[in-house]
Amino acid sequence: MPLSGTGVCIKEHIKMAYQTRNPYTDEVVKTFTPHTDAEVEAALAAGHALYKSDWAAPANMAARLDTLRRLADVMTERKEELARYISIDMGKLIGQSRGEVQSCIDIARYYADNGARLLAPVPYPDVLGEAWVEHHPIGIILAVEPWNFPFYQLIRVAAPAIAAGNPVVVKHASNVPQCAQAMEDVIREAGAPEGAYTNLFISPDQVAAIIADDRVQGVALTGSEYAGSIVAGQAGAKLKKATMELGGNDVFVVLDDADVARAAKTAVGARLYNAGQVCTAAKRYIVQAGAAEEFTRIVLEAFQSVVMGDPLDEASTLAPMSSKRAKEDLQQQLDRAVANGAKLLCGNAPVPAQGQFFAPAVLTDISRDNPAYFEEFFGPVAQLYVVENDDEVVALANDSHYGLGGTIFSGDVERAKRLASRIETGMVFINQGGDSVAELPFGGVKRSGFGRELGDLGIKEFVNQKLVVVAK
Ligand code: NAP
Repeated sequence: MPLSGTGVCIKEHIKMAYQTRNPYTDEVVKTFTPHTDAEVEAALAAGHALYKSDWAAPANMAARLDTLRRLADVMTERKEELARYISIDMGKLIGQSRGEVQSCIDIARYYADNGARLLAPVPYPDVLGEAWVEHHPIGIILAVEPWNFPFYQLIRVAAPAIAAGNPVVVKHASNVPQCAQAMEDVIREAGAPEGAYTNLFISPDQVAAIIADDRVQGVALTGSEYAGSIVAGQAGAKLKKATMELGGNDVFVVLDDADVARAAKTAVGARLYNAGQVCTAAKRYIVQAGAAEEFTRIVLEAFQSVVMGDPLDEASTLAPMSSKRAKEDLQQQLDRAVANGAKLLCGNAPVPAQGQFFAPAVLTDISRDNPAYFEEFFGPVAQLYVVENDDEVVALANDSHYGLGGTIFSGDVERAKRLASRIETGMVFINQGGDSVAELPFGGVKRSGFGRELGDLGIKEFVNQKLVVVAK
């Protein structure tokens, strides 16, 4: 991917129709009509009216949390249907789609059960007088979201916003419109009033106009570095609070004292899950020399024995990529890496004629001047680096423009903890692959973005943390 003058990856935005094209069958399943400017205005008017109504008041929190509880129930009842929308919109294996819906249910329940505690006033030291910080809603939040976890990405913004009393308007990725519509439907079915959550099929220009609107007070984007740099720039120009959850180039470190077989098995899942289309996927394996031979053998064996097939068939173990374009972009990246001197340990194997499948690949011998060294491969391509000692692990891990997550496997947890504290990312997992649950904050540093979603930190991103002091 070329770099702009600012060093940020650039990728031209190609205007896409809001359309489900099944990446396994290539069939156009459903096309949605884009929303007009008048419809956008109606959504903002409804959201703003709701924000100004009793619905958003702190005294009404219990009712909003009840909506989240009902949302968890509705999603539980409709789990299978929702999971199928994911698999048909973007090709995820059905078992993983069910897992994603379950994560959404857990997030809705977590904020339903903990919202009141997380947003309770916090007492501060009695210096000027009795002091505390209250948490108030701030107004409409715009969410711009990607297709790789088409429900989970939405609920990460929607659940804390509903708990806090912030209405949400959403621009979802154009290739997952059935999921986009279904999320609005289940939130309404759970009893949320008009304006609490509105899905909009809109263009980048309409996104920019929404950000500029005075009724909108926050912008949450999850997506690529490219979209993040544009949308964060628009939010900055209008002095709007923003959170950015962007790309990653996470390391998966295996130290010489690790249980190598367990680490390798975890590493395979950490790279191939969701056909490798995960921001926190294990994109760079960094393995110490003593563990390298066994690790490489197990990984190569597993990468070459995946079962590529219908995402709705439980027997498939590798899903197609989300679109033809995603597959073509990844192939270009892989070819460029090899043309610049990288060695392919496996990859470019035959794939089924039907479906956007990409044969899992492992690259090694990637020099620092190879474009692949700094790029995010958003698909089933792993990079393998073999190093000698812990300092080399840290130097290589931190030689990245990104800083999202990372994993360290070691037989000595204290040693792993020391390394974890030296790695410049927002999250590090020891002796387990990267994961995300409702209770734990998620986010990164450097070009992986800023701000956090989920947990206690996530719900405080878009609230007015208001200090009140009563004189002594
Ligand atoms: P993307 O192209 O940036 O798309 C994300 C969203 O931004 C989509 O809704 C897209 O709409 C929209 N968008 C793109 N350009 C825009 C513009 N100029 N103005 C307004 N909206 C715009 O991302 P992607 O390639 O689909 O997703 C993969 C990326 O997301 C990877 O880099 C991945 O690492 C990252 N990601 C990060 C996290 C995290 O939590 N850190 C989680 C998941 C994914 P269209 O679909 O209409 O283009």
